[in-house]
Amino acid sequence: MLRNCKIIVAKSAGFCFGVDRAVKIVYNKLNDYDDLVTLGPIIHNKNVVSDLEAKGVRAVDDVTCINKGQHVVIRSHGVDISTIKALEEKGADIIDATCPFVERIHKIAYENSGENKVVLIAGDPVHPEVVGIKGHCKGECYVFSDREQLDGLLEKIEGKEVTIVSQTTFNVSIWNECEKAVSEKGVKARIYNTICNATAERQREAEELARKADVMIIVGGRNSSNTIKLKNVCEKFCRCYHVEGKEELSSIDFSGSHFIGISAGASTPAYIIKEVQETMSEILNNEEEFNFEEALEQSFKKIYTGAKVTGYITTVNNSEVTVDIGTKHTGIIPASELSNDPNAKAEDIVKVGDEIEAIVLKISDQDGIVTLSKKKVDAMKGFEEIVKAKEEGTVLSGVVTNVVKGGILVSTNGVKVFIPASLATARRDDKLDDLLKKNVEFKVIEVNENGQRAVGSVRAVANEKRAAAKAKFFETAEAGMEVEGTVKSILDYGVFVDLGGVDGLIRKPDICWKRVKHPSDIFSVGDKINVILKDVDKENQKVSLTCKKDSENPWNIFISTYHKGDVVNVKIVSITSFGAFAQIIDGIDGLIHISQIANQRVNNVSDILSVGDMVDVKIIDIDEDQKRISLSMRALLPEEENTEEPVEEAEASEETTEEAAE
Ligand code: SF4
Repeated sequence: MLRNCKIIVAKSAGFCFGVDRAVKIVYNKLNDYDDLVTLGPIIHNKNVVSDLEAKGVRAVDDVTCINKGQHVVIRSHGVDISTIKALEEKGADIIDATCPFVERIHKIAYENSGENKVVLIAGDPVHPEVVGIKGHCKGECYVFSDREQLDGLLEKIEGKEVTIVSQTTFNVSIWNECEKAVSEKGVKARIYNTICNATAERQREAEELARKADVMIIVGGRNSSNTIKLKNVCEKFCRCYHVEGKEELSSIDFSGSHFIGISAGASTPAYIIKEVQETMSEILNNEEEFNFEEALEQSFKKIYTGAKVTGYITTVNNSEVTVDIGTKHTGIIPASELSNDPNAKAEDIVKVGDEIEAIVLKISDQDGIVTLSKKKVDAMKGFEEIVKAKEEGTVLSGVVTNVVKGGILVSTNGVKVFIPASLATARRDDKLDDLLKKNVEFKVIEVNENGQRAVGSVRAVANEKRAAAKAKFFETAEAGMEVEGTVKSILDYGVFVDLGGVDGLIRKPDICWKRVKHPSDIFSVGDKINVILKDVDKENQKVSLTCKKDSENPWNIFISTYHKGDVVNVKIVSITSFGAFAQIIDGIDGLIHISQIANQRVNNVSDILSVGDMVDVKIIDIDEDQKRISLSMRALLPEEENTEEPVEEAEASEETTEEAAE
């Protein structure tokens, strides 16, 4: 008796995803079709095959045994293209249980074969999986099993496009040596390591156990290639036995063992592993025996609703994605749980072989399915980003997905952030509906980590940007500078202009050199205009503006163009009791005093002049201080007609040209 001998069962022992899937497909279909057959044994395990036989599912050797309309399951190893064609010609109803990982190799072989191309397959040339891969090559292909054979092939195929793939159960360390050989020889080849992760993981774990163990028991069918390889991996480190079931244990010598490891091939059902473990415990009478139930439970412990699991994508279609999560369950992510974007396609988000994290939504032990959500993991990660963004004051960006009562919802990193209406826009009068489906920048101002809720503010970002722009503006702003701005609002007394972070006021008199009745006669909100900084108060960060350029000042233009004594043609613009105002140039009017209209006495100006009349006048005085211009029609009349006593100008109004202009 070996008391206190430790027995450990490898967690990865037994059915892999592909085998599990194929076996489930057969068991699911056997009640639907009474003519169901499998093309070859569904797995290399006589117990499972016998059980299926007892339930009426035969394993047939080849296509010749198939009848028209018969339901045929293609096992996880897959088959070559010619077999599919032969089945179709026979009129068989094909149920394809080829493992998606094997299908991927078929695709690589097909796409990379043909004229002047060669496909090299690392594997066992007679293994059905390798036969199937070869059968997807459109041209030259060779199989090698080690570095030596590969070296020979590489010399033979010089000058051709080379693609190298592996049988999914190929030995990882031999593959690594072969990859090294290719690089050492400087051969340019497309290398696809298609060793299945399930196999690699099973081999790695078995090796780890074997390194510690005195004896390793490898459970699996005699014909199971991956079981044989598992034994090859382990026997380098300890005594190793390949058994098909508990019956073979009695012939094994366990003497001197303190640590016994158990692993099993991909086609070994869990119940056979359990039987082996229990029988060993009985044989050894092990008091501190390893508790399989406990181990099993342990391995399932990680799978509970709400748990985060990591797995590999095995299939992708429009409605769902399947994930190998390293347990006996099949993980399924429905399309609706892949992404928040209802328009996103599954194949744009993930691809077969991708590692993925997901949250367990539901476990159905009865049908071995775990429903998962990638969306929730994204949201969890996203929420971590949100919390970090709040702590660090980072600006986030996201798309406005909904306008709701009281605000908007913005999607960022898979999380919906609520932004109250008062903080959702840069300006109060901006409309929320205009934001829908648009990208906005915002800051997180509040998070509730338990409730996974966050509140943001678009305005906070806008205010910060404005403050930064304002500071930058006042760094360089000087009176007299010309800048561009946008008319923001129009009031009776002037116009506010947004200069990019700073608002400046143009008072009504500064709008234009001409007389302006109302600012809205000149500007509209939103107009882009050039303005001059009239006064810059850096301390109080205030700025006043003008549109009046000195170079356009009408008085300066007048002074530099006209002189006393000049005769000009003017337009009467207004009539008063003491004379008429006449426009000399745009913005400059002069007064024709009533006494300067005619030689004879004029009692009523409007008897002689009307608004709009064009008359010749002489400039008889220019008062630069008062900016007054006196004009005279009379000065242009012949001397002899000038007989009447003129009315004294002092009797006239004191109104000036400038006042009139106002
Ligand atoms: S070992 Fe990998 S590739 Fe092969 S059937 Fe299993 S899951 Fe598929």
